[in-house]
Amino acid sequence: MSAAPTNEPTFRESVDLMFNRAVSIMDLPPGLEEKIRVCNATYTVRFGVRLRGRIQTFTGYRSVHSEHMEPVKGGIRFAPSVNQDEVEALAALMTYKCALVEAPFGGSKGGLCIDPREFDAHEMEQITRRFAYELAKRDLIHPAQNVPAPDMGTGEREMAWIADQYARMNTTDINARACVTGKPLNAGGIAGRVEATGRGVQYALREFFRDKRDMEQAGMTGSLDGKTVIVQGLGNVGYHAAKFLSEEDGCRITGIIEHDGALFNEEGLSIDAVREWIVKHGGVTGFPDAAHTAEGAAVLEEECDILIPAALEGVINLGNVHRIKASLIIEAANGPITAGADDVLRNKGTVIIPDMYANAGGVTVSYFEWVKNLSHIRFGRMQRRQEEARHELIVSELERLDEMLGDRWSMTPDFKQKYLRGAGELELVRSGLDDTMRIAYQSMREVWHEREDVTDLRTAAYIVAIEKVAAAYRAKGL
Ligand code: GLU
Repeated sequence: MSAAPTNEPTFRESVDLMFNRAVSIMDLPPGLEEKIRVCNATYTVRFGVRLRGRIQTFTGYRSVHSEHMEPVKGGIRFAPSVNQDEVEALAALMTYKCALVEAPFGGSKGGLCIDPREFDAHEMEQITRRFAYELAKRDLIHPAQNVPAPDMGTGEREMAWIADQYARMNTTDINARACVTGKPLNAGGIAGRVEATGRGVQYALREFFRDKRDMEQAGMTGSLDGKTVIVQGLGNVGYHAAKFLSEEDGCRITGIIEHDGALFNEEGLSIDAVREWIVKHGGVTGFPDAAHTAEGAAVLEEECDILIPAALEGVINLGNVHRIKASLIIEAANGPITAGADDVLRNKGTVIIPDMYANAGGVTVSYFEWVKNLSHIRFGRMQRRQEEARHELIVSELERLDEMLGDRWSMTPDFKQKYLRGAGELELVRSGLDDTMRIAYQSMREVWHEREDVTDLRTAAYIVAIEKVAAAYRAKGL
């Protein structure tokens, strides 16, 4: 995958440039803009772990961008390319992301320079626990101060280790489980967290397609049904987004780009078949039902309705932006479009649904998990059967009517079964996520269409988010 050419600003500078664009048309009190933009603190830790008979030293970071609300929130990334600039950029995006979707957190992010493929599960556990120890002893993992989550290279397994490490260090903390989100269900997690970011991408697109004006901006009509989609990265986010869009909304996934090249099939690819192939063979090469090209990044430039970069930052940059043909891009990854490429696309009229909104499904469901941990009860546990009993009342009345009216009317066959079922945790999580994604989109849309000086969704998103952060600082008397 192509990284940003070196003549472009760094990732953090890119985020700052986009921020500056938005604040230049806002009316903030003098100096507040600088206070919001800067990263409050970045902690760097180097620690040793004895592995295979020798001590190996690892470098990790936890950056806190803004503490206007606490705890601060954001994932922990495990990748060899992790560096301070990247962690700080990602922490800043977390601040704006949480503000935009009204998750009551400040922004933070962590990272460990490591290639997880080089270590077995036991070694990974030792390394993760040691990193967690270093962060927890400085309150950089803490239910009320700083709550990590999964990101690239981490998942449920790492979150369970982190939660357990924190609990060992804080044996009397009744809220210990709320110190990290994205845990497995049996270790205090929540139903629907793994799929949440991909699900959020789906809900975001559905909301986009509810407004004719938005579709017109991208030169589109109709609905998601039949739209062609190219996805870059079939990791957790890309996989779920592509799966839901193809299985539930009628999209045709024509291209999938992975680390070892890309697959292309005009008829549409089966997401589960490709995923299974990747799990088995380590990449997409050799997948039978599609054309394969080793030059994966070139497929970003193919014709399609919707392009979903769901992998690394900087993949659409000044080096390839002029060849990008999609008229709608949804940023499932953080920072996939550099500031320079963003300018080019905006001037061309390409509609970009920005990262801070598009991938906010993850942190939204993290928020639900944190609330669940603090309330010590599964969502729906108190209401579900009571709700079912009330539905039962209506259904029995309808059954009486059904009998009375004979052939003239009858209930739709699966109505009774569907209506009777009270909402469990998964249904409630999806409903909360859908609501969050709709409301956040609507707040961006309003700014986008109503302000003449705003011509793109990213600037609109920054304006909505920065206004919220500024309001929180004002309320603190700053
Ligand atoms: N790493 C995810 C993100 O970039 C999730 C963060 C969270 O759940 O706190 O949004």
